Amino acid sequence: MLSVDVDDTIKKLEGMNARKILLQLPDGLKPHAFDYFNALSAKFSVIISSDPFYGACDVGNAEIYRDVDCIVQYGHSEIPNVKYPKPMIFQEARNEARVTMNPDIFDILVTSGFRKIGLLSSIQYMDRMAEARKILEGLGISVIVGRQDSRLAYPGQVLGCNFSSAHSISMDVDAYLIVSTGKFHAIGVQLSTEKEVFLLDLNYLSLQSIRDEKEKFLRKRYAKLSTALDAKKFCVVFDTKIGQYRKKLADVLMKQIKEIGKEGILLSTNEVKPSDYENLRCDAVIFTGCPRVPIDDAERFSMPILTPPEFQSLFGFKKTRNYVMDEIVAVDDLN
Ligand code: SF4
Repeated sequence: MLSVDVDDTIKKLEGMNARKILLQLPDGLKPHAFDYFNALSAKFSVIISSDPFYGACDVGNAEIYRDVDCIVQYGHSEIPNVKYPKPMIFQEARNEARVTMNPDIFDILVTSGFRKIGLLSSIQYMDRMAEARKILEGLGISVIVGRQDSRLAYPGQVLGCNFSSAHSISMDVDAYLIVSTGKFHAIGVQLSTEKEVFLLDLNYLSLQSIRDEKEKFLRKRYAKLSTALDAKKFCVVFDTKIGQYRKKLADVLMKQIKEIGKEGILLSTNEVKPSDYENLRCDAVIFTGCPRVPIDDAERFSMPILTPPEFQSLFGFKKTRNYVMDEIVAVDDLN
């Protein structure tokens, strides 16, 4: 059960003398929209955006937020190095369900001989890291929490596009353990490291290795990527969402496409839709917005959709035999 502290939002809004606010709610919190609206509108003029949004990388359209004093986003943590166009309040949602972890599920780490574990979490479950640490230390395992870069708000935190908390301790740990639910973030970490990643899934209170998932993913992914080798016409797409805006990278890709004798066109988008590229008769798309779109939504596209490092590895601009996960360290200034 995710919860947010609405009283704290009110205090912060009063502190900044805000009158008009725009509230963004992730789908998981939309069932509480009436409660939030009633509580906040007792003191402020409130509009709730009904548009879906990606996270702290996405504050919606200027037409909507232009006239408000503050954008309040529930459920996500700030991306510290994004220059937001308005004062922002990020009221994080934390999972408060009390769970009892059975220490036996951690035995696999001991029997595998891991002595030093890097502890990670997605934002909703960061409060559970302390419980995991206690159990691991009770088993004689050292726990290290990595320093984040300026795209992340907390040590040990991961986003689907940034695993800097894992990279900063890669030389110091034998394996990683990520506290989360579902495999989304765990597979991302596993794709970005050679060390084994274990998912402590709080839905199932289970611990599982993600290594095989990586192999499965790569087999499928390389099959898809190989179909881009014969592509002649590329669409290079940059996303205008504030925390996904990598136009300079798109410019670099356009030059690289020319260098290999292919044809490219540069496109902007605010919502990447397969039909847009089918109409343009392109053979492949390179997408510089959210790195999870080419990976998680590949099946929606009739043509291969590549991340920038996938394109660069495929056509020899990156000299590596390993798969390179697309991670966002910083974005261009959109303002
Ligand atoms: S770019 Fe994608 S992975 Fe990164 S914060 Fe936005 S939605 Fe999440």
